[in-house]
Amino acid sequence: MRVTGTLQREAWLRTEIPPVERVVPGVWSIPVPIPGSPLRYVLSYLIEHASGFVLVDPGWNAPVSWQALTEGLAACSVPLSAVTAVLVTHVHPDHHGLSDAVRGQSGAWIGMHEHEDAQLARFARPDWNDSTAHYMRWCGSPEEHIRWMTADGYGGAAAAMARADRLLAHGDLVDVPGVRLRAVWTPGHSPGHLCFHDETHDLLLTGDHVLPRITPNISASHPDSDPLADYLESLKELRKTAAKEVLPAHEYRFAGLDARLDDLRDHHIERLEEAAVIVGSAPGRHTAWQVARRVTWSRQWSQLSAVQHQAALGEVVAHLRHLQSLGTVTCATVSGVGLWQSLPRSA
Ligand SMILES: [Zn+2]
Repeated sequence: MRVTGTLQREAWLRTEIPPVERVVPGVWSIPVPIPGSPLRYVLSYLIEHASGFVLVDPGWNAPVSWQALTEGLAACSVPLSAVTAVLVTHVHPDHHGLSDAVRGQSGAWIGMHEHEDAQLARFARPDWNDSTAHYMRWCGSPEEHIRWMTADGYGGAAAAMARADRLLAHGDLVDVPGVRLRAVWTPGHSPGHLCFHDETHDLLLTGDHVLPRITPNISASHPDSDPLADYLESLKELRKTAAKEVLPAHEYRFAGLDARLDDLRDHHIERLEEAAVIVGSAPGRHTAWQVARRVTWSRQWSQLSAVQHQAALGEVVAHLRHLQSLGTVTCATVSGVGLWQSLPRSA
């Protein structure tokens, strides 16, 4: 892997926001701050087409972020009114938060995968908190964590984000003239995550699916889903693009897609092995929360924030669920709580 966004990387190391950059003629990166987040910024991408501009992942909805986005567009000499389409890789608020404001001021349409639009509909349902609490109990979460999850209003804030005007499916060419921008469905980090292959410039916009330094969170949000299987499969799908440069939504640009895809796959294989060892190392059955407490994280469990606990828990459920698909562990639901146990290895 070779870093091509050297200014971005230098800024990252200095804990600063990188500059607006022209990646190639007709494509710019605009960093949009995420206040209070260790990710610091989303890289929003502006792509020129024959009759205007496409904006991918406008960023977090906060005044400072809106200011950075509009000043970034001005630095590219592009008025907001020239944006005709907003594409979102996925509807996490650091990517999709400002889409509604951009649409409101420009008249642009918003495009995303149908599974992302369905998520927005789900957040808006009145039973979102109840179903979240139910799922958290199934994971073995303590009541304190469940209260935090349901009181923090994530569903409410997320429900306020813009619904899609157009749905994009795997392989679709985005309907803009003069530039070939193809949607690549890459579920895993989010069920309807899309990457965009700019075939005109041979650039791959990877959203959160492939980042140069960190591994994206792969969370199971439902006991029956196997998002890690989806993620590993969509890493393979991305390899087919053979794009020469990767434009991620965080951190910095790089070349050497295949090597990074290998790293990400290997990370999850190691995590799977660790989870299998934890489940197998003690007799009896374990909740996902108990397994999560014993996995090696960047910091001790007790020092992680509630947000980090939730990300870690989701990640552990995703790995346990995939181990279950592989026939390594089994899960039984007893009194509403999922209990995980090793299966003896067949000879
Ligand atoms: Zn995300």
